[in-house]
Amino acid sequence: MSIDKSWISLDHRDKKFWSGLAIFIERCKDHMTNSGKCRCPCEVCDNFEWQTLEDIRIHIHENGFSKHYKIWRFHGEPVVLQSTVEHAIPRATCQLHDLIADVRQENHDHEHSTNTNDPMNTNDDPMNTTNDLMNTTNDPNNTTDDPNNTTDELAELLKLAKTDLYPGSKWVSALDFLAKLSHMKAVNKWADSSFDQLLEYLRFVFPDAKISESHYEAKKKMKTVGLGYELIDVCRNNCCIFWGEDKEEEICKTCSASRRKDKNTKGKKVPNKVMRYFPLTPRLKRLYNSRHTAQSMTWHATGQSTEVGKMRHPVDGTTWKDFDARYPDFASEPKNVRLRLAADGFNPFGNMSVSYSMWSVIMTTYNMPPWLCMKESTFMLTLLILGPRSPRKDMDVFLRPLIDELKSLWSQGVKTNDAATKTSFTMRAMLL
Ligand SMILES: [Zn+2]
Ligand SMILES: [Zn+2]
Repeated sequence: MSIDKSWISLDHRDKKFWSGLAIFIERCKDHMTNSGKCRCPCEVCDNFEWQTLEDIRIHIHENGFSKHYKIWRFHGEPVVLQSTVEHAIPRATCQLHDLIADVRQENHDHEHSTNTNDPMNTNDDPMNTTNDLMNTTNDPNNTTDDPNNTTDELAELLKLAKTDLYPGSKWVSALDFLAKLSHMKAVNKWADSSFDQLLEYLRFVFPDAKISESHYEAKKKMKTVGLGYELIDVCRNNCCIFWGEDKEEEICKTCSASRRKDKNTKGKKVPNKVMRYFPLTPRLKRLYNSRHTAQSMTWHATGQSTEVGKMRHPVDGTTWKDFDARYPDFASEPKNVRLRLAADGFNPFGNMSVSYSMWSVIMTTYNMPPWLCMKESTFMLTLLILGPRSPRKDMDVFLRPLIDELKSLWSQGVKTNDAATKTSFTMRAMLL
């Protein structure tokens, strides 16, 4: 059933606007927190803020409906994975947008729960992946000997999320501003230099505001929250990637093709082909940094179907059971991660006659209940390969960094803090 959204652009004196708004407010009732608030999609709040239904009604009337909010995913509209280039790259920044909103909600919940002393004050919404940062970062007993120091990174994120953009700014934090601008940059394909110029001018006009120095700085901050990616040069004939022991090579060992477009150019040399790799481990660790996602990560241990012969999740399947029997050591820790890999190619320009392809490798985790593991927000984009030729048969070449990471996750695992139990454990992972 399609949702009628035509009213949002209507004149506010129009009767249809008011009836559309009334239906929308009804819809919000299914997406409220315990404290009776729902994400406000007005142009100012833009789903970052949680408001009462009455305030949402006033906000939409006064500020208008957010122009960026096309799919009402916070208000019950199902999300279909869209295979277009515009949706693939900014997804990381969209995730950041969600993360900030979640951190805020968590702070809000935390304040609320300390007021009411209600230990059961958890959000009703299982989709709501709020981050349990307050508990993991401010606990003096929480000693971390983690070499990667996730807690520090999350503390950094929390600090940024709480820092006002400028003294007295109520509705935009320094992190909101950064995420929003980076999103605009990605969606509108702004060049790095134009972005830097804009930042420079904004800093000049608003000297008190906490604005990043440059695109590079902004990207570095994103990296600290586990949303960074690595650019890896690829041989133009898809035979190898310039990574690991071949990192410094200038010529492909298999076909002798040059790594760069023009090796005689002075200054920065442009590679023939590049892929983007989004490391998996920090994102898996982050799943456990949130109390809510950490809880759903052990769903599979108790979530088996009780109806004989019915399969509603891979946990009910024979592959899962066979695996458990073969590796009882891995199976005995329900927090260990079971991943699924999906590769998909698509044509970014929607024109089938154009021989340009874009390949993505997406991982999902089967630890979560069926209604979460197939949800777009739990998909993890790990590889993005662009180029005029589809890598179909050469896929294994591109998967090398991912396979290395998976191997280490399988054999050694990685020390991870679990926000649900406030303990740390060694997380291992396998590919189903
Ligand atoms: Zn609002
Ligand atoms: Zn080659």
